[in-house]
This record gives sequence, C-alpha cells and structure tokens, in this order.
Amino acid sequence: MTTPAAPRKSLRRLGSLLQFSFGLVWSAARAPFVGLVALQIVSAVALAGQVLAVQLTLSVILDAKAREQGLLPFVFPVVLLALLTALTAVAGSLQASLGRYVGESVAQSMWGQILEMATGVGLRRFESTDFYDRLERMRSNALSRPFQVTNGVLAVIGATAASIGVGITIVALNPLLLPLLLIGGVPMLLTSRRESRLEFRFNVEQTQRIRLRTYIALLLTARDEAKEVRAFGLQRFLTHRFSRMYDTYRSDLARHVRRRSTLNVLGNLGAALVLALTLLALMWLIAVGQIGIAGAGAAIVAIRLLASQIQSLTGGVQTIFESGLFLDDVHEFVTGEQDEQSRGPVRDVPEFASLDLDDVRFTYPGRPEPALDGVDIHLEAGEVVALVGENGSGKTTLAKIMAGLYPPDSGTVEWNGTDVSAFDQSRLRSQIAVIFQDFVRYAFTAEENIGLGRADEPVDIEKIRAAAREAGADDFLAALPDGYRTPLSRLFDGGHEISGGQWQRVAIARAYYRQAPLVILDEPSSALDPRSEHDLFTSLRATLQGRTALFVSHRFSTVRSADRIYVLDAGKVVEHGTHDELMARQGLYAELFSLQADAYLRS
Ligand code: ADP
Repeated sequence: MTTPAAPRKSLRRLGSLLQFSFGLVWSAARAPFVGLVALQIVSAVALAGQVLAVQLTLSVILDAKAREQGLLPFVFPVVLLALLTALTAVAGSLQASLGRYVGESVAQSMWGQILEMATGVGLRRFESTDFYDRLERMRSNALSRPFQVTNGVLAVIGATAASIGVGITIVALNPLLLPLLLIGGVPMLLTSRRESRLEFRFNVEQTQRIRLRTYIALLLTARDEAKEVRAFGLQRFLTHRFSRMYDTYRSDLARHVRRRSTLNVLGNLGAALVLALTLLALMWLIAVGQIGIAGAGAAIVAIRLLASQIQSLTGGVQTIFESGLFLDDVHEFVTGEQDEQSRGPVRDVPEFASLDLDDVRFTYPGRPEPALDGVDIHLEAGEVVALVGENGSGKTTLAKIMAGLYPPDSGTVEWNGTDVSAFDQSRLRSQIAVIFQDFVRYAFTAEENIGLGRADEPVDIEKIRAAAREAGADDFLAALPDGYRTPLSRLFDGGHEISGGQWQRVAIARAYYRQAPLVILDEPSSALDPRSEHDLFTSLRATLQGRTALFVSHRFSTVRSADRIYVLDAGKVVEHGTHDELMARQGLYAELFSLQADAYLRS
C-alpha cells in the first residue's frame, strides 16, 4: 500500500539512513575510509578514461590514413586502454581488502556500542519485550549487518563517483544520451525500494519467532538444561516444536522470496527495455549524423558501464535500506536515553548508616497485580535483618529494589535519609553486595569467581581466600587440582565441576569479597542442607564484622536469631519484629514457623 506521501517519505528516510551509515563508517575507520574513497575516485577516473581510450582506438581503426602507417598509431590508444584496465583492476582489488578491514572496524565499534548500551540500561528495561526484542535483533544482526552497511556505503560512493565520471564522458560524446541513461535506472530504483520494504516487514514479523526457536535450540543443546530435558524426556517434544517453528519460517520465507524475486524480475525487465530504447536512440543519432561511428562505439561501452554502475548504486541503496531496521535500532540506542547514566550532577554516597523503604510499590510490566504493594522496611548499620515469606511473596523483587536494580513505581528508598535517586548509581551499587538465588556460575577460575566481587580492583588472593574461608569454601577450593586457579567448568581445559551447594558458597564468598557495607543474600542457602544453612546464618554476624545484612529465606527456623524479621505476604509486609515477638503475636509467622518445624521434626 503506497500513500501519495510515501516516495518523499522514503527519500527522506534514505537520506537519513545514508547520513547515519556514513557517520558510522566515518567514526569507526576514518583513515582507511578516506583511502577507500580516494581509490574509488581513481577507479572512476580510470573507468571514464577507458571510454575515451575506446573512442581513440576506434578512431584510429576507422582512420584510413592512420592505417597506412602500420601498427604505430595503435600503440598509444591500446597501451592506454591496457593501463587503464589494469589500474581499474588493481584499485578494485585494493578496495576489496581495505573494505574488509573497514567492515571489521565498523563491526567492532558497533559491538562496543551494543554492549555498552546493554550494560548501561537499568534492569527494568529487560522486563520489556519490546526492548528485549530490539536488543536481540541487534545482537543477532551485529555479526553481518555492519559489513553490509559498509559495503552499501562503499557501493554508493563508488558507483556515484564512477557514474559521474562515465556520465561526463557520455555528455562529451553527445549530451542527448545522458537523460536516456538516467531514465534507465528508474525501474530498478522503484522496485528495489518496494523490495526493501518487504524485507523490513519480514524481519520485524519474524523476530519473536526466531527468538523462540533459538531459545528451544538452546534448551536442547545447553549443558545445564541437558539433565532435566533427558529426565523429563522432553527431547521429542522440543525437537518437534523446533521443527514446526522452522517449517513455518521456511514457508514464510518462501512466500517472501517469491514476492521479492517477482519484483526483481520486473525491475530488470524494465531496465532492459530502457537499455534497448537507449541503443535504438543511439542508432538514430548515427543515422542522422549527430554522432560518428567511433563515438557511437565508445558510447555503447559507456552505456554498459553506466548501466552496471547504476545497478551497483541501487544495490548499495537497497542494502542500506534493508539494514535500515538494524540501523534504526542502533540509532535509537546511541541517541536514546541511557537511563541513569545521562543524568545531571549526582551526589557522592555517604558511609552507610540506614536504608529505609517507605510505601514502596512495584508492578512488573505486563502483570496485572503488584509484586510489592506498599512496603515499609528499615535497616540500620550493623543489623542482621531477615526477610521471610512464601514463594512468590515478593522477596526477590524487594531485594532487587534494595540493591538499586529497579526503581520503585512509587514510594521512596532512602540511604541515610536521602532518596537513592540522588546518588551516582554505580557508586551506590559498589556499597551493596547482593547474591541472588540464581547467581551466575561463571565458567572462570575459582579465584576469578570470587574476585569478580570487586572486578575493578586488582586481584588480592589473600582477601579472596579470607572471603572463601568465611563462606566455608576455602577447604574444597584449595583441594581442587589446580587450587584457586582451577576453572570451575569443564567447558575449559583442566576445568572441574563443583556441587550446587559448593557453588552457593563460592557465590557467598563473592559477596563477602566485595567488602560492601550492606550485604543482601537472597536465599543464599537454598542448595545447602538445613544444618549448613543454620551454620551459615549463625556465623553471619561474625563474618560481617559490623557490616549490615539482609538475609532472605523461606526457611523460618534459620533466621530466628535475626535482629528483626519482616514477613512478606502477597507483596505486603504483614508482620515484623524479633522471633519472640512474632511468635507471641500468633500470626502468619508463628503459623508458618510451627508448620515448618513440624515438617522438619516429622522428616
Ligand atoms: P519470591 O522471591 O518471594 O519468590 P518474587 O519477588 O520473585 O517472589 O516474585 C513476586 C511476584 O512477582 C510473583 O508473583 C512473580 O510471579 C512476579 N515476578 C517475579 N519476577 C517477575 C518478572 N521478571 N516478570 C514478571 N513477573 C515477575
């Protein structure tokens, strides 16, 4: 469907896409890019020179007097033609090599931008499907698109330069030929624009499906998932689903490719028709004596050259159009708000004294009910505070908000009485060590797994060992084949697997190593047995050495010695106090505590 405004709109779009693409290539590889443009100008001049050399050769052939002098008069035009042809070839091959280098530079710069953006935005953006789709599109395109964009840009520059060069020689031969040639490019330009639009739409439509398909492939091939997939016998189900999705994609692709090919054939037929008309016009010019035979011969060569240059120009434009969606995504990220990073002056973070949540509400995007619904929490330096509640009550969400990973929808989070949004967010996070239940098991060495707690600082093996000792990880890490230098994954040579409970201790050691005044442990002990969990909690106070901890657990018995216990239920704090106070209240805590104690005694 083409609206009357569409051609202008798409021209404007082409203009902005070209401008942005040039900008990308320019900023990623200035010097080689200048070299490339210089080479393209050389090629263009050589190409135009070739046309003149052909005319020169033909005039010598047609000149009876020159023929009487034997081969001599042919030497200059033939050598000129040979030299210019060689120059065009050499320039072409140099361009290909340099183009490859420029393409890689653009790819590197683009990866840099994508990674910076992905790590720069707040965690909340990852909850939005729209954002995630866009990020995924960029990630999956980041390998191929930069090369295409670079090639498109180069094709546009090269073909423009060559067309101008050849165009000038054609005008020199006979100005009447030029308009005819320019019209020759119109059919291809029209159809290629439509083709690009089809390509856009196809890409957008398929993004979600390709993502789901990639995810299923990951489930079927990833190590961590392998055991559950086998235990539940999911192979057939997942493989079938994968094939079905691929089948749908293929049939969509077939329809899409058919449409594109039809357009392409129409464009080429149109171009051929215009070419035939041009040649007829040339014959007419010869017939009426407007142009000589040598001029006509050179014009035929020029017409062929120009037609292929126009084709290469439309090809370049089409490539850029097709990468348009990708470029839009890049553009949006580069110029878009960088969440917390681009704010004005921010305050330094004072030494931790207290953290207060007041009437905090938070709803995940796309969820009808709030995950947190008016939560008040108070944490004071040196305290060990526990947060308990059943699954889904909002504990992890609360931990994320306290760690500054999500801003609340409403309500306030105050650090020493000042709203946390006033602080530099990365400095604030450096004051907090948080380990989530689904912490990351880095396929790096044991030393690095703990050292990542303070990745900005040089590794201090003594402190790493001290943190490991406090988390109860030192014994088994020291006993690994290569001690702390052992990679904790068999993905790498000499790697060694450790158990779930051992991983948990390594993650806790990472949090301790961070030496942050506030430690948040979100169900840090779910893979530990109750006795180990109890030991971990009771040793926490000594380990923390005056630091503050929020300990999240669904095992009520573990946290009974906490300074204060908050009981979360359906996103609300329903009770808080010490264990004894809560037991005396005979409320939810007392009920769940007794329930768990009974189950524990009976087991
Ligand atoms: P808990 O840690 O107590 O098990 P959570 O904080 O993980 O509870 O979850 C609280 C509520 O928020 C649950 O209803 C859960 O389904 C929902 N929830 C958690 N994470 C997300 C998410 N990323 N997107 C949407 N809903 C979520």
